[in-house]
Amino acid sequence: SAIRKLRASFISTIAQCVVELVQNSLDALATSIEIHVDLMKFFIQITDNGSGITPDDMKKIATSKCHTLEDLARVITYGFRGEALSSLAEVSILEIISKHPDCYDTYCTILKGGQRLQYGPTRCRRRKSGTIIIIRDLFYTYPVRRKHLSENKFINELENVKKSIESLALINPQVTFTLIDALRDRKIVTTRKVANSIYTFHQLFGSSLSQNLESVYAEEDDIKIDGFLSLRGFHTKHHQYFYVNKRYIDYNEVHKLIDDMFNQSSFGKKNYDEPLEYGSDSPSKFKKSSMTKSLEKYPIFFIHLTCPTINYDIC
Ligand code: ADP
Ligand code: MG
Repeated sequence: SAIRKLRASFISTIAQCVVELVQNSLDALATSIEIHVDLMKFFIQITDNGSGITPDDMKKIATSKCHTLEDLARVITYGFRGEALSSLAEVSILEIISKHPDCYDTYCTILKGGQRLQYGPTRCRRRKSGTIIIIRDLFYTYPVRRKHLSENKFINELENVKKSIESLALINPQVTFTLIDALRDRKIVTTRKVANSIYTFHQLFGSSLSQNLESVYAEEDDIKIDGFLSLRGFHTKHHQYFYVNKRYIDYNEVHKLIDDMFNQSSFGKKNYDEPLEYGSDSPSKFKKSSMTKSLEKYPIFFIHLTCPTINYDIC
């Protein structure tokens, strides 16, 4: 029961759940990922064109992948503990439909409360390999958690889902992402496959924000930094992204360091008199700020640090 508790606490929000599922699709080398969320129904569906799951693996899906510390040190994929699907299977009705290239049939399994309800080939065969994961009634075993989520305004949680997908899309420019709010039947994120994250940024946030972005690149020994930085500052930190080996990291010290360097540089000073504020992604809503000189400004940045995985603690 201690393990059950640990697993249940591992995923506690809808946004976290979406991130785990999308990371699985990325680990399966999908180039197209479509996400439907209906927050009122606690429903999530992810469809990818990745490698698919063999019928054998589908049976074992709730078991862990890493067993030793050395295994952990070698991790280059997003997944490393084999915990996400087994945790989700305990707090929802989880359906997995998958077509593996080595297998003629498309297989399906349904798990509820950690128990397998169904397993076998489905009648609707898919021609191409890929996986559909459907989560129904997420957190049904935790009415308090569900209540908390619904009181906390769905809009907020949808915004969190959107931000998570945006940050995953930015670091995976080679992947097409679609996020659909199934409740209102609205696409809220769409990206097309492009060669570089800077173009994904442009697709996500429009041309006004992507103006004056400068590429950055540095390399020393086995550590590499690349990405881009805005030449002008903003009053909010909305678009600051830092990743280590493709994982988004919310690390305050790095943000502060870059903000300070920006404000001390000629870029930070040059635009001092003309601060712009984010209105929305639409350029027409940009307005000149009424607040002036006393406020600090923040650059847009997207920084990706690549280094050997043994250099840091993944947990
Ligand atoms: P982890 O990602 O840490 O391995 P998960 O519980 O998230 O653990 O997933 C368990 C396993 O299920 C993965 O290792 C992978 O083999 C398989 N899997 C999950 N989602 C997909 C997917 N979308 N496509 C292919 N395989 C998947
Ligand atoms: Mg995973």
